[in-house]
Amino acid sequence: MNSEADVVVVGAGLAGFCTAIEAAAQGANTLLLEKMGTVGGSTVLSGGSMAFAGTDDQTSRGIKDSSELLARDLLTVGDYANDPALVKVYADNQLDAYRWLVERGVKYAPVQAAAGQSVPRQHPTDPAEMIRILHREAAAEPRIRIETGRPVARLLRDPVSMRIIGVQLKDGTKVSAQRGVVLTAGGFSRNPEMVEQFAPLQSAAKSVGGPGNVGDGIKMAWHMGAGLRDMAYIKGTFGNRPDARPEEHTAMMAIYKGAIAVNKLGRRFVDESISYKLIGDAVLQQPDHVGYQILDEPIFALGVDGVKMYDFRARLREGSLLKAGSIEELAVKIGVPATALAETVATYNAGVLAGRDEQFARSGLVQGYGELRTIETAPFYAYPSTSALIATYCGVTVDPRMQVLDVFGEPIPGLFAAGEMTGGFHGKAFMTGTSLGKCVICGRIAGRNVALRN
Ligand SMILES: Cc1cc2nc3c(=O)[nH]c(=O)nc-3n(C[C@H](O)[C@H](O)[C@H](O)COP(=O)(O)OP(=O)(O)OC[C@H]3O[C@@H](n4cnc5c(N)ncnc54)[C@H](O)[C@@H]3O)c2cc1C
Repeated sequence: MNSEADVVVVGAGLAGFCTAIEAAAQGANTLLLEKMGTVGGSTVLSGGSMAFAGTDDQTSRGIKDSSELLARDLLTVGDYANDPALVKVYADNQLDAYRWLVERGVKYAPVQAAAGQSVPRQHPTDPAEMIRILHREAAAEPRIRIETGRPVARLLRDPVSMRIIGVQLKDGTKVSAQRGVVLTAGGFSRNPEMVEQFAPLQSAAKSVGGPGNVGDGIKMAWHMGAGLRDMAYIKGTFGNRPDARPEEHTAMMAIYKGAIAVNKLGRRFVDESISYKLIGDAVLQQPDHVGYQILDEPIFALGVDGVKMYDFRARLREGSLLKAGSIEELAVKIGVPATALAETVATYNAGVLAGRDEQFARSGLVQGYGELRTIETAPFYAYPSTSALIATYCGVTVDPRMQVLDVFGEPIPGLFAAGEMTGGFHGKAFMTGTSLGKCVICGRIAGRNVALRN
């Protein structure tokens, strides 16, 4: 071995920093290896929405929420394909994770409603600032060494005990990990071959995410016999601009404030209140995989500055949210048949006023929450939207201690994982804010357990 540490953590995104900080707090000398030149992975590109229940902000707004309700929502949105033990881990530890971040100086904008949430529990934060805070803390901790530009290529295993004993870097350097290795290397939204391999229907979705997120961690664990879970449930997210660049956040969710989504024919194609992952699937079935979110001035006014998915004014400033004085004029701007769009809006408005959406049975703004709104007051707006694979939310099987399980469900000694590269938690769809939430919750658990060396 060329060097050694008690714990090696692979990947310096949100899960990696939380793991390293907790492992060091248990007295473990921890080496955090990041393959790119800078830290932050997909985390810094994200919308910054985090799902927590029972917070002081919710209480002050009269929102009744609890760990139990959050767990129930997770299972509902995941269509009960989730591992209940991992859902319980989230529910039991989420409030502590929220407070742990607050103690460190992470700030949240007012709570919002979002996909998969039967009450508003999306706590928006600035993800880049959150990483800066954790990075600063980790860099100041003498037990943590952070090395960037250090891609890990393989896990090293003792041939007799079969324990994971370290890692080998791409340049051949070997690092021993006395207590264990934690993989926090993110998903594979930037690896089209892997997407094609596991979820061919999603190949039509745009690929967005951190440049290092090509599935290295999953492959390294898989090579050691790790089980995989949820691979078939990979889904893109609706609301991303069709011309988005791979490292650009463009998701806008006016639908959850009352907008409708139409296709290039000017027709609605889905109940807009369901998970944006499921709408992502629906838009992939539409001509050219393109939809438009259509809203009017009162819905536009419900935008929330600084909360990426609801920051309508920022989209208008950058020119991607198109504005017109009438529905017909808007139709011309986006190139859909004007008569069809006008008819669609009129039919939808009539349904809202009658209390019955005859077309798609939409009953609320998001997941049954919130009163529907008509679209009738000029000016009108349209946001071109497609499905983008911003994260993969599936991967290696882990137990509630975040120890990686092999294909037979047996723990692989010395190997842990956390963050986006773990499977079993989300099930078939996704509740907004649970990936970042899971990185903090599960990263901290992985860090504490790997430090115990058992
Ligand atoms: C545009 C966008 C919007 C999103 N919005 C939200 C949201 O609002 N709420 C939410 O909950 N989730 C959101 N997500 C998903 C969420 O951001 C990610 O799932 C989460 O940040 C993943 O964190 P992580 O720590 O697991 O991985 P990352 O933050 O991606 O970090 C993994 C790190 O590992 C490094 N790495 C990879 N391979 C190696 C290797 N071989 N050796 C060393 N290092 C390696 C990578 O370079 C990367 O830095 C969004 C994602 C995107 C892209």
